[in-house]
This record gives sequence, C-alpha cells and structure tokens, in this order.
Amino acid sequence: MSSKPLPTLPILPGATLGILGGGQLGRMFTIAARTMGYKVMVLDPDFASPAGQMADVHLQADYTDHGALKQLGAACAAVTTEFENVPAASLIELSNHCRVSPGAAAVAIAQDRSHEKSWLREQGFATAPFALIDGEADLEAALAATGTPALLKVSRFGYDGKGQARIGTLNDARAAFREFGGQPCVLEGFVKLEREVSVVLARSDASECALFPVAENRHENGILDVSIVPARVPDSLAQQARDMARAIADKLGYVGVMAVEFFVVGGQLMVNEIAPRPHNSGHYTLDACVTDQFEQQVRALAGLPLGDTRLLSPVAMVNILGDRWHNGGPHWDALLAHDNIKLHLYGKEAARPGRKMGHFNVLDADLETALKLAEQMRHAL
Ligand code: AMP
Repeated sequence: MSSKPLPTLPILPGATLGILGGGQLGRMFTIAARTMGYKVMVLDPDFASPAGQMADVHLQADYTDHGALKQLGAACAAVTTEFENVPAASLIELSNHCRVSPGAAAVAIAQDRSHEKSWLREQGFATAPFALIDGEADLEAALAATGTPALLKVSRFGYDGKGQARIGTLNDARAAFREFGGQPCVLEGFVKLEREVSVVLARSDASECALFPVAENRHENGILDVSIVPARVPDSLAQQARDMARAIADKLGYVGVMAVEFFVVGGQLMVNEIAPRPHNSGHYTLDACVTDQFEQQVRALAGLPLGDTRLLSPVAMVNILGDRWHNGGPHWDALLAHDNIKLHLYGKEAARPGRKMGHFNVLDADLETALKLAEQMRHAL
C-alpha cells in the first residue's frame, strides 16, 4: 500500500472520512458527517448496508480485504469503526495510511470478553464475579467461584444476549459450553440487578473528555428496550458512573466515542461491558442533547474540539425491533401523531425478530410523562 502523509488536524469539512461497518451506527455516523460537509466512505460486505445507502461511496468488501483497505486508506483522511468485531489487524493496516480512531489496542480489549473482564479486574474496576473458561475442565472450579445461578458467555462475537446461557448446575454448564463449540467463555455470577445504567463519552487526542448524561437502561431478552435519561439514580451514583467511565477511557488511552455499561447491585456499580463505539443507549442524544454521539464521533475523529453534551430535555428512547412487523404493525401513524416523538429508522429491508430496525425518542419536560408516553407507544406500535 502506498503511503500518503498523515493529515494535519483538525480535518475539516470537504475531506473524506471512512467507517468500517455499515449498520445503523455507521449510518448515523454517516448522516452526521455528511450534515457537517464531510464525504463518507463505508466498508461493509453487505450490499444493502444501512450506512452504505447514505454514504458517498460504499466499498462492498470484507473487513480483511487488503485491496479494499488500501482503497479506504488512500481515500480517507481518517477512519473509524462502528462495531467491535472489526479485526484489530485491519485497524493496524489502515493506521499506516490514515488517521484511525479508536486504536487497535482498545478495540482488541473490548472485542474479547475474557480480555475485557481480566483487564477491568487488573485495573481495579468492580465487575460481577467471573472466571475464565478455556476448556471444560475449568467449569467446576469456576462455578464454585461464581456460585449459581450463573451465566456462561462466549468471549467473542456475542451480542444482544446471543452466545449466553443461564447455568444452574455443572451439567448445564457442560452442555452450554459444548453447544458453544468449546470456544473460550466467561462464566459470570448472576447478580441481582437493581438497575442498569450506561455512560457514553468522547475522548480526544488531547485527553479532553466529554461525558453524556447517564442513561438508565431496561433490557428485554438481553436486548436494550428502553433508555431513560436522566437515569433515576442518586446524583452521587451518577457521578461515580461518569468518573469510572472516564477513568476507563483514560486508562485505555482512548480516542473516539465509547460507552461503558454498568450494573447497579446493592447500591454499587459494577462494570458490565465496554463498547468502543457509539452505543444504542446513546441514541437519545440525537434529539435531546446539544451535540449527539455521532457528531461527537465525527469531532473526535477529525480532531475537532468536542461538542457540548448538555441535555436539553428529559427523554425516553425506545428500540423498534423486527418483531413489530408481525401482527399488522408497525403503526407509524399512531407514533407520528405526537409532536414530541422523534422517529429514526435504519433502512433495513428484512424485519427479523430481535433485529434493531429503528428507535424513537420521546421528549417531555417531565421525565415520567415522557416515559409514560414511551410505554404507551411501545404497545400501540
Ligand atoms: P450482556 O450482553 O453481557 O451485556 O448481557 C445482556 C443483558 O443480560 C444485560 O444487560 C443484563 O440485563 C443481563 N445480564 C448480563 N450479565 C448478567 C449478570 N452477570 N447478572 C445479571 N444479569 C446479567
């Protein structure tokens, strides 16, 4: 691959930005970047990629395709990613030719659950009790350490509750481990969740950090269902979550947008996961904050000053899954009849159960009123 000089920062509108991955997160990045006057090139193997539809150029190729990476690196001043499973080697390859954020090292930690959990423990961040499973022989001691019930989670490529099994006995654990093909896993003690919260933040090259307000998240079947902002937790706990998220970003030397998901157990925070990208629980920022998480991703990538993360209104975000396309829905008319609901659809053709098709944000000066309407629309849709 021929090298070109790395761009001087900040990279200004008119330049081309690239993104690895063309799902909904890539799509919203692309929209933000184009709104600001950048050109966007998306690399994604799927011809119907949601981001590809919005981009100036869609390179339809695999993330390890050297030719495509060369083209991307040559055309773009900077490249980012929208998902953690992009091969770290591809980020390294690209970084020889253009600016890349986040860096391969941080993505490598977040894309492997065993790695991530071990790193968090080494760095002194509280997590649910866990043990690493490399082979079936590890299960018995691991279960003794975590107690039951527990969850067995594959280390790589699990998402939205996929690649997870609930474990009550050693036999369950053995069966689940075999079902996952004997791949490395993490066994986690099942903790009694009072709430789940998350923090989305951006960190710049200059170690400047801008944190979005803490979101309270409700999951259904392991998939995010509703985010409520501001989170209904004591101020001190919200501040602790923000401090921990910032400390994690600092320790990773992170540049870009990332999210940290937490469990609240016995009034204390435990880190669940780090996402090296914008996050579903940050979609509320699209309508409720001065700067949204995707503009922030553009700003961090381009080396611009980070935007103001101030919350302009309480908000409830509801995910719209493919399940809604059954039984005659979705009823967009019911949703769009409300002047304080903002709809976002991702341009996906096939509405499979559990597939994230879009989301909507309900804004109201009173959080409980917003949440009530969100619940009502969740059912009416
Ligand atoms: P994950 O993919 O690991 O984020 O898990 C998806 C969801 O499952 C979480 O957001 C929680 O609602 C639930 N969950 C995951 N791990 C645990 C645990 N150790 N204890 C209790 N609930 C959990």
